[in-house]
Amino acid sequence: MLNLEHEAGVWDSVLLEPLSEDAFVANLQHRFKRDHIYTYIGNVLISVNPYKKFALYSADLVEAYVKRGPFQLPPHIYGIAGTAYRWLNDRNEDQCIIVTGESGSGKTEAARIVLQFLVLVSGDRNESKIIKDRLVQANTLLEAFGNARTMKNDNASRFGKFLDIEFNFRGDPIGGHLTHYFLDKARITRLAPLDRNFHIFYQLLSGADIHLLKILKLQRNVELYAILLTENHQPTLSDDDDKSLFVYTRGALEVLGFTDNEIIDIFRVIAVILKLGNLQFVPCSNIDGTEGCSLTNDYELYDVCELLGAEPRWLQRALITHQIEDQIADLNAIDAAKLRDALCRTLYSRLFTWLVNRINDIIKGKTLGKRKELGVLDIYGFEIFDKNSFEQLMINYCNEKLQQFIVNSTLKEEQAEMIKEGLEWTKIDYFNNITICQLLEHEKHGVLSLLEEPHVQCDAAYLTRVEQCCAGHSHCLAADSILPLHSFQIRHYAGAVTYNVRGFVEKNRDVLPRELSRAMFRCDHPLIPVLFPEGNPKRCNPKRPASESFQLRVSLESLFKELHGRRAHHVRCLKPNESKRPRSFEMALVQHQVRYLCLLPTVQLWRTGYCLRLGYVQFVSRYKMVSGSTWPKWRGSPVEGASLILRSLPIPSAEFTFGRTKLFVRSPRTVFELEDFRRAR
Ligand code: ADP
Ligand code: MG
Repeated sequence: MLNLEHEAGVWDSVLLEPLSEDAFVANLQHRFKRDHIYTYIGNVLISVNPYKKFALYSADLVEAYVKRGPFQLPPHIYGIAGTAYRWLNDRNEDQCIIVTGESGSGKTEAARIVLQFLVLVSGDRNESKIIKDRLVQANTLLEAFGNARTMKNDNASRFGKFLDIEFNFRGDPIGGHLTHYFLDKARITRLAPLDRNFHIFYQLLSGADIHLLKILKLQRNVELYAILLTENHQPTLSDDDDKSLFVYTRGALEVLGFTDNEIIDIFRVIAVILKLGNLQFVPCSNIDGTEGCSLTNDYELYDVCELLGAEPRWLQRALITHQIEDQIADLNAIDAAKLRDALCRTLYSRLFTWLVNRINDIIKGKTLGKRKELGVLDIYGFEIFDKNSFEQLMINYCNEKLQQFIVNSTLKEEQAEMIKEGLEWTKIDYFNNITICQLLEHEKHGVLSLLEEPHVQCDAAYLTRVEQCCAGHSHCLAADSILPLHSFQIRHYAGAVTYNVRGFVEKNRDVLPRELSRAMFRCDHPLIPVLFPEGNPKRCNPKRPASESFQLRVSLESLFKELHGRRAHHVRCLKPNESKRPRSFEMALVQHQVRYLCLLPTVQLWRTGYCLRLGYVQFVSRYKMVSGSTWPKWRGSPVEGASLILRSLPIPSAEFTFGRTKLFVRSPRTVFELEDFRRAR
């Protein structure tokens, strides 16, 4: 038997005997302490964030995992990536690697390691080398613009990402495509204590040379910019790395083929957002007695307009007035500030989308003909904060949908495998979160659908509708005295989250007044009119843009439709502690994640009757040495080879079942025995 004290625990949790949640977590902890951060559950990889760097990743190891099957070497993310790549080539099937886990658990690192692996194992023929460089640089660029420091993670992804890589028949990359999901743009104008804004702001301020700063009309001090202060008015700080990371970000733009002028234009938009955020409005009374406002620091507005190539009068007018039908009225100071913030957020999110679209043009495969795809999905983890808003609902909705996909696809595939191999199937109990997905997206009465109702024009009206339609649902708490004011609660699969409805309707609708879009469209800056096409007065019949939640629903629907047609490989990331410390493994915290990620049912699923399954070829190559004298004279088929090996061992034949393509082993004890025989040789 494997001895927990001497060995590195159990490499595949399916082999745990007896199996319990405690034993499962204890095994992870045991391995973690010995720097084995990876453990399998059958073909699912669990990864526990070590919060330290060690020699786990290298070109030599990549080679080892490419040459040998995943179960012949210790569990590793290379094993998963290698299987996906091998199946892409050998079986000619599209693949996807789905990385999940909460914020800071190591998803983005895992996705990066997979990309590095693919870059190393695939060929450099023709355009492949260029494509690979661009894919890596695209990742660097998106991290600068889409990641930020939060309480949970210094490099938290604030957008969901699906990177699809296309390969030719030789297995060389020939193109790629990036899809992004819901950017958390709210942080542009509102930062929780200890959080930072997107990395690019700090990188630009610390990394730009004096010449560039002058062009951008910026100064180096972070404290000079209102959007870089937290909501309790504390400055956020630059990191030592910001300066050097700016070099990488700029380099990434260059490798991707952005021209010098385009690069300056992109940074000018960033500078505009920084300066726009500083505009201050004070109340004033108009002659007719109505309340209006005026700008106290017009010099900032002049800078903004110079950077945008805009006429200050137009922009000022668009920021402090609004048009109701044919009447123009002044905004009060509070509403003008809200409009300023909305413009900052829109500028940033549209710049981000524009960057993604440009990257897609650049990495698009040019070669015609049949291609296969391998995609890596890295979506932000489930979020519960003290205060939860619209952004958390969007993010948690993504997580519910993903969980639903995982639960379905693992079950479906397992069931299909049992049937394919001609074995009996036993049902496993697990929590199916479909009820929560329905609570959110029910066509008429879903929490998200209610946001789209035409008469829901303010947050209070929205809350009333949620109370009317969802309060009775077993996963929703609304109109309840235990809730804080203006809020409702959803019992997500990963925990209960109380959402405050403030800002929901406006954030979801996400439209700028027409005058402001017009003012943007009229700018001379080459990029800005492209970002605000709806401001074009010649555009007839301007359609109302789709709301944020609707866009997210549509894009997730098409994502999961795509993923359903592929072979899925799963990496489930766990966070060992909340304080980003190496060598610290908090049992209760890990247990909680193990529970909501349904890891134990996954193990049980794998063990329904059979704890190990191996293809005959794999089985023969792993255990051929145990049969001693019969080998290597044997030249027959793998299935006969496997049967010959088993006959040479003192293990009862009832322990094994021969499926069509795989050998199934009944109890973990037998696997340990096999391993012991193997070691003894
Ligand atoms: P997530 O995307 O799940 O929020 P990240 O992948 O950004 O989390 O990981 C958070 C941090 O944890 C990283 O910045 C890195 O410092 C550390 N980390 C994650 N995975 C690893 C790993 N495999 N080895 C070393 N450090 C890691
Ligand atoms: Mg991430």
